Amino acid sequence: MSFSNHNFKNKKVLVRVDFNVPLDAEFNITDDTRMRAALPTLNKIIADGGSVIVMSHLGRPKLGFEEKFSMKHLVSHLSELLNKEVKFCEESIGEKAKNMSAELKTGEVMVLENLRFYKHETAGNLYFAEELSQLGDFYVNDAFGTAHRAHASTTMIANYFTGNKSFGNLLENEINSLEKVLSEPKKPFTAIIGGAKVSGKINVIENLMDKVTDIIIGGGMSYTFIKAQGGKIGSSLVEDNQISTALEIIEKAKKLGVNLHIPVDTIIADSFSNEANQSECNIFEIPEGWMGLDIGTKTIEQFKTVVTNSATILWNGPMGVFEMESFEKGTKAIAYSVVEATEKGSFSLIGGGDSVAAINKYELGESVSYVSTGGGAMLEYLEGKELPGVVAITHKEGFKVNED
Ligand code: AMP
Repeated sequence: MSFSNHNFKNKKVLVRVDFNVPLDAEFNITDDTRMRAALPTLNKIIADGGSVIVMSHLGRPKLGFEEKFSMKHLVSHLSELLNKEVKFCEESIGEKAKNMSAELKTGEVMVLENLRFYKHETAGNLYFAEELSQLGDFYVNDAFGTAHRAHASTTMIANYFTGNKSFGNLLENEINSLEKVLSEPKKPFTAIIGGAKVSGKINVIENLMDKVTDIIIGGGMSYTFIKAQGGKIGSSLVEDNQISTALEIIEKAKKLGVNLHIPVDTIIADSFSNEANQSECNIFEIPEGWMGLDIGTKTIEQFKTVVTNSATILWNGPMGVFEMESFEKGTKAIAYSVVEATEKGSFSLIGGGDSVAAINKYELGESVSYVSTGGGAMLEYLEGKELPGVVAITHKEGFKVNED
């Protein structure tokens, strides 16, 4: 059953969110995107007449409580966003949390202390999961960013809510968007894969190979493909141990009739710097001492044609070192062509940390179909892996956990 079909009237709902937001030295939230992303879920539960127990991790605490990672710093902002006073419990489990939860009234919201102050959280400890579960009578997971981890609050806890568990609005949207691309993509379907390394994306490419019509390769990983084909790549980024993998991808694409688009020209620089001397050349003929840091003019034109003629687009990874203004042209051009295709009716999904950073840099997030919030989780989903946090909700009989 979809999240919107649940009625949370008189329910105490334990909601796992991803409020892992950046804080400055005075503990002010510098980017509240993740908090805003959870509002539809929280507001729906409140509007139904339920009460909410919010749980999340924040940062990477090492040994128990650390002031800078306390969830208390988020409480007043959450109160503003929800337009109601939010309570805070300085523990995640135990008597105090139980008493506060028992006293929660319809429409009230409380936030638990950082789950990762307890080492049991990331260990996926059953006792900790069970203790958390006693705080509510319904479990909602709305944290896509941690859905690939079998942690106590993202996975194990679901075991105690057979029949009383659901994705939240955000997590449900993430999965629906990913499924739209993976299960029934409208063709032509183009996957744009960029970023630094072949090794980081190989599993994604392999899983997509029998689903796509076209694969565009860009970014640092393209030079391994060029070297594999005998090209001269100067001092460009290369993974020598991935050369045979690159050749296998080229062969597999031929066999499956997938159009594999590899750059033909490149912007080169004499050092890894925004101020470096730069030039443009055939990507097979990069001079010694020069490195490719962006795709070239002809490549941009070719890639644009492929992208704007696609009905489904998946984009993961930039085309060059877009963080430097001198080498952002390729990534920017691809971003605009994804927008153009979307305007013509294509479904476009952008995901993976750096392509999201790129689309946000050009303020185009609203102009594509979906921007995924979960970097690592999205990558694993695209690799075809089952995410523990997803399985924990979809398994009707409860998520079978290893008691050892
Ligand atoms: P990834 O996290 O694997 O998607 O890689 C993203 C990173 O790859 C970004 O920080 C880019 O600056 C970097 N990158 C893209 N193209 C190149 C390139 N040609 N040389 C070196 N780094 C690159």
